Amino acid sequence: MNLATVRPEPRAEARNNAPVALPLAGKTALVTGSTSGIGLAMASALGAQGANVIVNGFGDVDGAVATVKQRSAGSQVGFHAADLARATDIEAMFAYAHQDFGGVDILINNAGIQHVAAIEDFPVERWDAIIALNLTAAFHTTRLVLPGMRARNWGRIINIASVHGLVASTHKAAYVAAKHGLLGFTKVTALETARTGITCNALCPGWVLTPLVQRQVDDRAARDGVPEAQARHDLLLEKQPSGDFVTSEQLAATALFLCSEAANQVRGATWNVDGGWTAQ
Ligand code: NAD
Repeated sequence: MNLATVRPEPRAEARNNAPVALPLAGKTALVTGSTSGIGLAMASALGAQGANVIVNGFGDVDGAVATVKQRSAGSQVGFHAADLARATDIEAMFAYAHQDFGGVDILINNAGIQHVAAIEDFPVERWDAIIALNLTAAFHTTRLVLPGMRARNWGRIINIASVHGLVASTHKAAYVAAKHGLLGFTKVTALETARTGITCNALCPGWVLTPLVQRQVDDRAARDGVPEAQARHDLLLEKQPSGDFVTSEQLAATALFLCSEAANQVRGATWNVDGGWTAQ
C-alpha cells in the first residue's frame, strides 16, 4: 500500500451495505513531534486507518493538523503544544488527552533532535536537550500512558529510535547515547507488559530525507564545497548500501503493522528499516 496516496474515502461497505469499521476506529493515537517529517507521516497514516490523532510539535502546526485531518477518515484530530523536554508539559498533554479523547491507545514516541560535534566540543546544553527529548521524554510519556492501557488491556507503544540505537557514528555522542538508551527502555517496557495486550517495539530507520537530515546535507555541502545534490548522494553512500533514502511512508506502514493484531506477539523488537546500513 502506498500511504502517500491514502486519502479520506467513504467507509467500505459490506455486502449488506452496513459500514465496515476501519482497523483503528475507536482508538486514539498520540504522535510526538508530528508537525514534520516521520511523525507527520505516522499521524496521517494512523488517521487514515480510523484512529483519532493527537498531533504535537513546533513549527507549522496549522499545516500539519490540516494534513492529518485531510488524510484522516473523519476521525477526531487534536493538537497539544507540549515541549517534550519538560515533564510538566508532558503531564499537561496527557491531561488533555484524557479529557478530550478519553485516553491514549497508541503512543508513538517520535520527537527527536540532533547535534553534530566532537565530544570535546559538544555543547553541554545540547547534550542535555538531546537526552531530555530523545530519551527522557519517552519515559514520561510511557509512565503516563501505561495505566490507561492496562485498564483497557490493549495498547501499542512504538519508539522511533534509529540505526544509531544499534551502531555508532562519530560526532553524534548525545544522539547515539540517547537512541541506545531508548532501545533498552523499549525492551524493559516490553517485558513489564509482556502478559498484557500492550506491546512496545522500536523502529530503527536509516537515512530519511526530513528537515532533521536536510540540515546535515546542507552542512556537508558547505563543508565540502559541493552542490546540495552531491552532498545528499555522498551522505547516503557513506552508510546506506541501498543508495536510497528510507521514506516516512515506509516507516508509517511498518508502524501500522505493529498496531495490527498480526503483531500481537512482536514485543521488544528493534526493527531496522535502514537500506542495509546495519547489515554491514
Ligand atoms: P523532524 O525534524 O522532521 O521532526 C521532528 C519533530 O519533533 C518536529 O515535529 C518538531 O517540531 C518536533 N520537536 C522538536 N523538538 C520538540 C520538543 N522539544 N517538543 C516537542 N516536539 C519537538 O525530524 P524527523 O527526521 O522526522 O525525526 C523524527 C524521529 O525520527 C526522531 O526521533 C529522529 O531521531 C528519528 N530518526 C530520523 C531519521 C532520519 O534520517 N530523518 C533516522 C533515524 C531516526
